Formats: sequence, C-alpha cells, structure tokens
Amino acid sequence: MLKIENLTKTFGNHQALDHISTTFPENKTTVIVGPSGSGKSTLLRSLNFLEKPESGHYHFDDLDIDLSKPVSSSTILNIRRQTEMVFQGYNLFPHLSVIKNVMEGPIYVLHKDRATAKKEAAELLAKVGLAEKADVYPAQLSGGQAQRVAIARSLAMHPEYIFLDEPTSALDPELELEVLKVLLQIAKEKQSMIIVTHNLAFAKQVADKIIFVEDGKILFDGSEPDFFGTN
Ligand code: ADP
Ligand code: ADP
Repeated sequence: MLKIENLTKTFGNHQALDHISTTFPENKTTVIVGPSGSGKSTLLRSLNFLEKPESGHYHFDDLDIDLSKPVSSSTILNIRRQTEMVFQGYNLFPHLSVIKNVMEGPIYVLHKDRATAKKEAAELLAKVGLAEKADVYPAQLSGGQAQRVAIARSLAMHPEYIFLDEPTSALDPELELEVLKVLLQIAKEKQSMIIVTHNLAFAKQVADKIIFVEDGKILFDGSEPDFFGTN
C-alpha cells in the first residue's frame, strides 16, 4: 500500500503541493482530478520520485521514507520497479518492433528468458487489442495504438501500481475511447492504478477513489459515488 503524509513540493516560491496526505489503496483505481496547474502531475510524479518533495513521509509497504532527507538511488529504483509510469506512446523505442518493445523490460530488467517474455508480450498485446500489430514498428501506429503498447509495456513489468498522467490528452476522441476501454478492463482486473485525468466521465467509470486537488491541496478524498453525489 502506498501512502503519503504531509507531502510538500515547492518550485521557486510557488508551493505546488501543500502538506498533502492520502492513501492509494491496492487493487483499486485512484483518480486525481482538479483544475489545470493545481498540482496533479506534480503529485503523481512525486510518487515515483520524478519530483523530489521537500518534506513529508512516503510509505510503500514496509518502507517509510522521511522526505526531508536525501533518498538513495537504490531506494528510488526499487520504488520505480513497483510503480510503472506510463508515458505517452512516443516513448516507445522506434527501432524495435511492437512486441520487442514489450519484451525489452522483462528480458533486461526482470531477466526473463526470451520465449517466456515473448509469450507474455503476445498475451498483453492481445489484451490491449493489438495482437495483429506485434511485428510492426512504432512509427506505423496511430497515437491510440502507441499508447496501448505503452500500457502493455508497463503491465509486462508486473508493477504493484501503474501511474498514468493524462493518458489520452494527445489523442483524438475516437482514439481516446479505445485507450479508455483498455484502462477500464485493466481496472476491472484489480490492477492498482493512479490516473490523472481531466475526463470526468471516464473518472466516474474507472475510479474506486477520487482525489480532487486545487491549489496544491486536497479538497476531496473519498469514494467515486461520494464525489459524484450518486450515493
Ligand atoms: P497539473 O498537473 O494539475 O496541471 P502541475 O503539477 O503540472 O499541475 O503543476 C502545478 C504547479 O506547479 C503549476 O503552477 C506549474 O506551473 C508548477 N510547476 C510544475 N512543474 C514545475 C517545474 N518543473 N518548475 C516550476 N514550476 C513547475
Ligand atoms: P502536465 O501537462 O502533466 O500538467 P506540463 O505540460 O505542465 O505537465 O509540464 C511538463 C513539464 O514541464 C514537466 O516536467 C513539468 O515539471 C515542467 N513544468 C511545468 N510547469 C513549469 C514551469 N512553470 N516552469 C518550469 N517547468 C515547468
């Protein structure tokens, strides 16, 4: 379980996160919403140390990190193993086929043998609806397809949590829908996820928990039905 207490992050004289405390339950989808510039992205990035908060505590399973002290790179690497950030699809390796993009992490980081990695990658591509694209190169994919490969690639690492920052912001509406469908399916399978999105209709469908951030503070922290007033 991932939990933060009194987390603060300042850029210059701007307090992007102001003593934020919350938990991100396992096997559930937590969605972070709020106006542009409210600190959503900074919060998500702080959770795997793409940003280093100045103070507060960070708990991950048995780990308790005092954020006011330096955090070792081995600790950060361990956390990143368990918290895969899905970057927009253009982060794929352009010189590798789609299936090799998915196999890379399991082979070189998890030390799986090639055959096992390939079998699993093929299964994951089928899950995201791209079985027939295994052997093409990223440049031949639409934005929505590339984003689904990026999702398959994170799943292949079997992280405890998957983080997504505006996973469809770069996509046309019809391509957005195919990515959202895949995420809804993954949420149903109880993969722990933390998603930043401005798409409230999607948030309502996918979220177990909603965090509403405004001006670096959490103004709502609770269940999806409580947030949308459908309880
Ligand atoms: P959101 O994701 O809600 O749009 P962000 O977390 O990206 O908000 O940004 C929160 C605030 O922090 C904004 O005012 C933004 O300009 C500022 N900010 C974010 N990253 C940086 C940075 N690297 N340097 C300076 N200011 C930043
Ligand atoms: P998002 O769309 O996720 O809110 P942005 O597009 O605002 O993110 O920011 C993209 C990158 O620029 C991030 O690495 C963020 O830290 C940085 N950034 C955001 N706002 C500022 C800022 N005011 N000054 C410097 N860097 C910033």
